[in-house]
Amino acid sequence: MINEITVKSVLRKQKRIDSWFLSSYAINLYRGCSHDCVYCDGRDERYQVDGDFGRDVSIKSNAIELLSRELNPARKRKPFQGGFMMVCGGVSDSYQHFEKELGMTRKTLELLLEYGHPVHMLTKSTLIERDLDLLSELRRERGAVVSFSFSSVDDNLSRLLEPGVPAPSARLDAIRRFKDAGFSCGMYLMPVVPFITDSAEMIEESVCRAKEAGVDFILFSGMTLKPGRQKDYFLEFIRDEFPSELAALERLYSNNSPWGEPSSAGPYHAERYFSAAASKHRMPRRMPAGIWAPLVSRSEEIVLVLEQLEYLASLAGHNSPYGKAAWTLAGLGQPIESMSFEELCSLRGIGSFTAKLVREIAETGRCGYYEKLL
Ligand code: SF4
Repeated sequence: MINEITVKSVLRKQKRIDSWFLSSYAINLYRGCSHDCVYCDGRDERYQVDGDFGRDVSIKSNAIELLSRELNPARKRKPFQGGFMMVCGGVSDSYQHFEKELGMTRKTLELLLEYGHPVHMLTKSTLIERDLDLLSELRRERGAVVSFSFSSVDDNLSRLLEPGVPAPSARLDAIRRFKDAGFSCGMYLMPVVPFITDSAEMIEESVCRAKEAGVDFILFSGMTLKPGRQKDYFLEFIRDEFPSELAALERLYSNNSPWGEPSSAGPYHAERYFSAAASKHRMPRRMPAGIWAPLVSRSEEIVLVLEQLEYLASLAGHNSPYGKAAWTLAGLGQPIESMSFEELCSLRGIGSFTAKLVREIAETGRCGYYEKLL
């Protein structure tokens, strides 16, 4: 059932450019998702999606009218800086079934083209191919990246885990067509489901098939299971479909972390499997700078590189100062590239090595250390 709701704003500015999803702004048009994936985090009470999550979907009926005002520079008191727009929601997919009839995402892309903003699209649906014409124009004019998410590349498992979306094989075929049309494409291998899609073999198969399809990068994440509606729904599904895994899954999430992380004592090695498969198949584990560097400001580039360095260091099991440095610099609200080495070193949490990296990016647009690690 579709419910119409009205909202006060649609464009959500991120505190800093998001290095996972490459977005300065997020645009959510729907609330609730007919794709109905059994692990969906959108069921969590804090997102306030009322009704039956996979069936009762709310559309923001005034979203397009609001967006055309929010994006219009003539209506801004302060100049609108713009930046990468992510048309996707944590609690909805912009290409869920209702989009076919309502066309809200298509109208949004028309506005983004009109006002000249680059986009990153992330979906599980091949319906995105309907908008290949608009996305191609956006890619040529301003930049567009297209990514698909997967929990595995196994069509049979996907039918159970993600009952409302096209099979992984169809998503991989769609990636091939976007690649043929000149797009940079990503795979978001998230979440892999513990004990079901997180074996070393399944993860390597996902990396291999993505590589064959021409994917430029893969981002990986395990599953979070927040106590309450999300956890209850998921465990009910496991009880019916994978009863032999129920006890292990209950144990893994028995800490009832409010953010849904598995217990650290749990048998959870998927990140290591992914890292090994990505190294073996030479697959970048973050969106490579070659894709986004020409499309973001130099300050955003510095923040993105530092955040990616933080992730790469964490994969190697090291603590690093780069995440904190990215946070500090993004919060300054001034062009980072014009700061001297001494000014950078005077900031809390920024040492001389980090300051050198920042100056290198500021002066050359590149970072040798980052390129080596990636
Ligand atoms: S496609 Fe995304 S938002 Fe929709 S149900 Fe699946 S995980 Fe949730």
